[in-house]
This record gives sequence, C-alpha cells and structure tokens, in this order.
Amino acid sequence: MTAFLDRCRAIAGAADSVDYVLDTPAAMAPYLRDWRGRFTGNALAVLRPGSVDEVAQLVRLCAEERVPIVPQGGNTGLVLGSVPDASGTAVVLSLARLDRIRSLDPVNRTVTVDAGVILQHVQEAAAAADCLFPLSLAAEGSCTIGGNLSTNAGGTGVLRYGNTRELCLGLEVVTPQGEIWSGLRGLRKDNTGYDLRDLYIGAEGTLGIITGAVMKLYPAPKASVTALAALPSPEHALRLLSLAQDRAGASLTGFELMSAFCLALVAKHFPALPRPFAAPSPQYALLEISSNESEAHAVALLEGAMGAAFEAGIALDAVVATSVAQSRGLWHLREHIPLAQAADGKNIKHDISLPVSSIARFIAHTEPLLQQAFPGCQLVCFGHLGDGNLHFNVAPPPGIDNEAFLVNQAAVNRVVHDAVAAFGGSISAEHGIGALKRDELARYKSPVELNLMRAIKAALDPLNIMNPGKIL
Ligand code: FAD
Repeated sequence: MTAFLDRCRAIAGAADSVDYVLDTPAAMAPYLRDWRGRFTGNALAVLRPGSVDEVAQLVRLCAEERVPIVPQGGNTGLVLGSVPDASGTAVVLSLARLDRIRSLDPVNRTVTVDAGVILQHVQEAAAAADCLFPLSLAAEGSCTIGGNLSTNAGGTGVLRYGNTRELCLGLEVVTPQGEIWSGLRGLRKDNTGYDLRDLYIGAEGTLGIITGAVMKLYPAPKASVTALAALPSPEHALRLLSLAQDRAGASLTGFELMSAFCLALVAKHFPALPRPFAAPSPQYALLEISSNESEAHAVALLEGAMGAAFEAGIALDAVVATSVAQSRGLWHLREHIPLAQAADGKNIKHDISLPVSSIARFIAHTEPLLQQAFPGCQLVCFGHLGDGNLHFNVAPPPGIDNEAFLVNQAAVNRVVHDAVAAFGGSISAEHGIGALKRDELARYKSPVELNLMRAIKAALDPLNIMNPGKIL
C-alpha cells in the first residue's frame, strides 16, 4: 500500500504534500472517531484534496486499486456514515479543504459553494449580502454543506424553508469513476430528464462525492419573535400548531415540542438557563414567528395567535420574548435538551417522523407499550413538531445504570419502530441511515423499494467503492 499512498501524494504535488495524506494513527484519529465517541474505525489513510480536480484524480486511483472511499465533511453525522469500518482497508476522503464560497448572486438569490464550506460560513456570507440561508442546526459551526446535502439535513427551519434538498438548485459531483458532473445550475425550473441532483442528496456518500452546490437564498426577515407555551398534552400542541399556521401562515418559522421531563433535565444540568414558569406543565411548545415587514408585525401575529390559544382553552400559560436576548434564552432551552441528555448518561435514541396529525396518538399508543415492557423507563420526547419529527429517546428508570439499560436497545427499538411503521412513519427523519440503522432499514423498507435502491447503487457504483456498508 506504500505505492498507492505515494501515488496519492503525487497527485498533490510537492508544494501541497504536507498535510495531504495523513497515515499516522495520531493524525488520522479525529477522522476515525464518530461524533458521539461510540465507535472508532480504521483506515489506510486520510486524503485531504485541495481542488475538485484532485478529488477526481484520487477517485480514479481508488477505482483502479479497488480501494473503498469514505467521504467526510465535518464528521458530525450521528449514524456512523462518515467513519470507516474497523477493517482498515478504506481511505477517508475529507472535503475540508474545499472551503471556498465561489459566488453569490443576490438577484437570482443563490450562493455557489464548495462542498467543504462550514454551514455557519454560508449563513454568514448570506447575511453579509442581506440575505438569509435558512438551514440551521446545532452542529452548524462544524458541519459542511456537502455533509448537509448528503444527509439531507433538517434542523429548525424546515417548517418554513424545507430540508436541505429543498434549498439546493444544483450540484457538482465526482462520480465513482472519477468523472466530474457539473450540474451547478441556478435554475428553479429544469425538467430535462431524470433528476440526478435529487439522487445524490441524501445518498450519504454512497453514489459519488459532492464537491460543489448552488444553494437558495431568501430575503432576511426584519424580525423574529418567540413564545413558549405551557400545554396540557401533545394533542393541545397539535391544536396550537394548527391555530398558529392558520393565523401566521408562512410567517410561522419554528414550532418545537418539549415534554416537562426534557425541561426538568435542562434545569438539572444547566441551572443558569431561564426557568420561564413557576410550576411545571406536561408539555411545552416553542413558537417562532418571523416578519419581512417589521417587529411590530411579528409581535402582533404572535400575540394574536397566543390570545386565540388562551380563548380556545389550548394553552395553560405562555411567555413571549420581548427582546433578542430573551428569544435566544427560550431557544437555548430547546437546544440544551440533547446536551442535558448527554450529561445525564447514555440513552436509547430514535429520530422518527410521522404524519403531523397522528403524533399525539402515536405518543399515547407507544408510551404505555414502553412502560409495559420496561417499567419505570423515562421518555425524553422533543422535536420539530411542525415537521412531524420527534426525538423519541428512552432513558432508564431512576436508579438504573444508563450503560446497563443499553442491553435493551434492540427490544426498545422494536417497540418504537414497529409503532412508527404502524402509524405510517419513518425510522430516520433527518439523521440518515449510515451503518447504525442499516439493519433497521432492511427490516422496514419494502423489498421493492430496497431492490430499486440496490439497482441504483449497482448502476452508478458497480465496483462498490463509495462508502460501502452504509445504507445498504
Ligand atoms: P459528515 O458527518 O462528515 O458526513 C455525513 C454523511 O455524509 C456521511 O455518510 C458522509 O460519508 C457523507 N458525506 C459528507 N460529505 C460528503 C460529500 N461532500 N459528498 C458525499 N458524501 C458526503 N441533523 C439534522 O438533520 N438536523 C439537526 O437538527 C441536527 N442536529 C445536530 C446536532 C448536533 C450537535 C450534531 C453533532 C449533529 C446534528 N445533526 C443534525 C446531524 C447532521 O447529519 C450533521 O450535523 C450534518 O448534516 C452532517 O454534516 P457533516 O459535514 O458533519 O457530514
């Protein structure tokens, strides 16, 4: 393999060879470990090309030598898609050095970027042009646009702006044969045959390497205001969502659900964060309304919605943030739930989606089944209710060790995922499949759908060198 790595180094040329091919354990370590620290793989080397042409040359070389490639962006994925397996036969191909904003067109409202650009840098480039790039998630300081596209990431703006797929107009991709497909079209209408762009989005690096993208921009809202409503049940949260959508329409830019247990966890581990209510309520909804007119308009919409919610007996209590700092404080409560969970110990996680209308029935159906099977277990249920996406996590009963409870993972998954399937939902709403959920995918997708997916993979990557063992 020394000869292979020498050929990789030769592609960089002498000037660029310093950190181009990493092959010592210490240098490779951060690229081999998954974000949550649950798994560490092994690799022949980590390759860090500095241009699209170098990516293409490296892929051609890997195809010739039959070396599997694991594409990697920020390595923040949560399903073991961006790390190699333990065999040590693959290379990790990091896109981190492809980090240029190529151009921004304020009239077409598009930005064209390299795949390795950090999400936050795209947001900042958009803001500098008085535009909004609406993709936003807690990993935005580390994750890359290529990774966001490859996982079709969701985040907090989906209700108004859609997933990453909806935000993308064009792609540039290096195929498994090492050819460059330049589909960087900034077109909102283009019905010229099969949609290759949509094939690569959400493919988790199994069909090719995304090297560039044209992403949509939006007018930056003049103001966003936030409220936290205390509610008796998930059913009431759905009624509030419907009411807020009726009154605010597209101005409703966020709607998150959190249970009392989630906020109690946040209060336990982050006591400095605000505690908006004196007494707990069973559920909470965080609403965000944005206006392109003025702050007064946003406040009027929000207060109107909350007033109607009280009149209809939907909300028990509410706080409306009257400053940016207060609004950030409310969002912090939501954003700190995963951190509070992590501080509390490991638990069994599910990233599921359901038809919005069936979410309350799903929770009412599934929670008793879990209690029956694992008496005293604690449900950490929160998520992007407006998108039908729940993080439906199961923690051990009080006093039971978190690690010890993990032996129930497969049995807990069965209860939750069977219920998801019965309600017409999905076992992966936004994190993807990777290696972690591959067996679950095989269980819940129909044979017809799996065969179509296998046929696409075989047609585009007949040597099976692109991220093998992920998804399928
Ligand atoms: P990586 O982790 O490096 O890779 C992810 C997958 O994409 C892998 O399969 C990899 O092989 C492939 N890949 C990466 N780059 C390319 C490329 N250029 N071409 C082809 N394949 C590629 N996700 C959500 O959807 N919503 C959330 O709210 C959310 N919140 C998160 C919060 C935290 C704290 C963390 C750690 C993660 C969160 N995620 C969330 C997970 C999310 O998938 C990732 O954060 C992000 O989209 C992945 O980007 P990345 O650059 O880190 O990709």
